Formats: sequence, structure tokens, C-alpha cells
Amino acid sequence: MLKIAIQKSGRLHDGSIDLLKNCGLKISNGRNQLMTPVQNFDAQLLYLRDDDIPQYVQDGVADIGIIGENVLLEKQSRVDLVKKLGFSKCRVSLAIPKNDSYTDVRFLHGKKIATSYPNILGAFLKKHRVKSEIHNISGSVEIAPGIGLADAIMDIVSTGSTLLSNGLKEVETVLESEAILVASQDLEKERKNLLDQLLFRIESVLKARDYKYILLNAPNDNIQEIVQILPGMKSPTVLPLAESGWSSIHSVVSESHFWEIIDQLKDLGAEGLLIVPIEKMVL
Ligand code: ATP
Ligand code: ZN
Repeated sequence: MLKIAIQKSGRLHDGSIDLLKNCGLKISNGRNQLMTPVQNFDAQLLYLRDDDIPQYVQDGVADIGIIGENVLLEKQSRVDLVKKLGFSKCRVSLAIPKNDSYTDVRFLHGKKIATSYPNILGAFLKKHRVKSEIHNISGSVEIAPGIGLADAIMDIVSTGSTLLSNGLKEVETVLESEAILVASQDLEKERKNLLDQLLFRIESVLKARDYKYILLNAPNDNIQEIVQILPGMKSPTVLPLAESGWSSIHSVVSESHFWEIIDQLKDLGAEGLLIVPIEKMVL
């Protein structure tokens, strides 16, 4: 039995549940309980506060967990980072009142900085040889300068609108974070096997998210050139259309690559392009 800890509610919850469901795990909606069994995989879900997950995994109360990388770096727990999961992306940044002029990190010297991430901030200041006073506060960090508690803050930023509405501007990105899978460092064999099975599925889901299935029609004269710019998993499939002189070409491309080559494809006479999501990808 593999005990999987995920956030009970918050910005990691939905992404974590989606990922596990995409891996084929049948999860009943039992968020109000602390624990729910997975119906078709030898596992149990534990719903916890994200900040508590690293410690629970380190202590073996949970075997694996999904948390933000920022939380792992702050807690410095002894757990393994198994996989970056690509969702709940955010950055941890320093911000100062918008009318203060900022040149570089030396601005922070001797200043008071409010944050919920004292360890991450401490390491950043040390690296830049800046001495500041760190105020560790647990919530609503962005109001600290406005009420005279601090000269600057370090907090999670996603769009920057919270900063703006508090009269702050972002001046340094300290850390880029995303959801990660962490695991206990001493999993017994049976649980390690379950983790490997789950990890195989997670990797198939993550790969599929990056790639799209592409179908297009093209004049036969240009097939060679199109195939050159459309690498498939092995090689694109080419099928004749009912209309003579034309073929349908199928392939798999990463979404970003698709946008890079779209104009070339059109110049080569490609028509009727379809881009279809892929659910799982096993290479
Ligand atoms: P809990 O009650 O579980 O302690 P919380 O209030 O600490 O929740 P959330 O705001 O739900 O935490 O954020 C959880 C994690 O989600 C953060 O540690 C971070 O990794 C990520 N995250 C936070 N804010 C954002 C955002 N705006 N966009 C994307 N991801 C975010
Ligand atoms: Zn939290």
C-alpha cells in the first residue's frame, strides 16, 4: 500500500487530483476525510496542508507527496525530489514600494524584509552578501510595507496584480517553482515498486501533455519536405487521400514546435490542419 499525500485544498489540490486521475487512479471525492482509498491501485490518499507534507513524508507517515518546490526548499526536509510535475507554476520574488528606486540587491542592505520563506530568503541574501532583517510572517505578506512593518517583501507572485494593488513592484525573482513529487528516502521494496508503477504512468501523462497529434493534407509533391520538418515519434504516417495527388500526413509534435513550423507547413501547401490532444504517450 502506497500512501500518497496531497494538499487538502488550495492551489495544488486540483492539479494533483487531475494528474492522479489521468494516471488511471479511481479516486472518490472524499476531501472531507483525512484519508481515502484508491479503488483500483494499491494506494491511499492523505489530504493534508501542503506545508506539513514534507515532514510527513520524511517521517514515513506518507510515502510520497505532491508539493510546491518552494515548500521543499523552505522546509529542507530529507526527502527525494522524484519528478517535476509542470503545474502550479509560480515564482517567489522580492518586491518593494513602487515609488522606491531600485538598482540592485544592495538596496536591501539594512532593510526589513517580510516573508513566509525565511530560509529561502536567508540563503538568497547570503549568496549576495547582503545583510537584512528577516521578518517571518505567515500570511498577507504583501500588506507589510503598507502598515510600516517592513521595507520589502518576498512572496509568491503569479500575475503581479496583488503586488500592484498593494503599491508594490517586483524587483528580483528569487526562485521559480512548480509542483513536484517527493518520496520518502527509505521506501520498502513493495512501496518502491508501487511508486515505480505510478511514476511510469505520470511520465506518460506528462509527455502527452507536451505533445499534440497533428493531421494535415498536402500535395504529394511536397510530402518529402513536409516530412523533414515534421519529425514523428518514429516517422510521420502518410496516407493517400481519395483525391488523387494529395495525401494525409499524421505525426506527433510538441506544441511549441508546432507554432514554430506552422508557417512553413502552410507555405508547402498544407491544408486542413488538425491538432489533437494526446491522452497518454508511452515511448
Ligand atoms: P495550505 O492551506 O495547504 O497551507 P497555502 O495557503 O499554503 O495552503 P496555496 O496558496 O494553496 O497554499 O499554495 C500552495 C502552493 O501552490 C504554493 O506553495 C505554490 O507552490 C503554489 N502556488 C501558490 N500560489 C500560486 C499561484 N498564484 N499560481 C500557481 N501556483 C501557486
Ligand atoms: Zn500552506
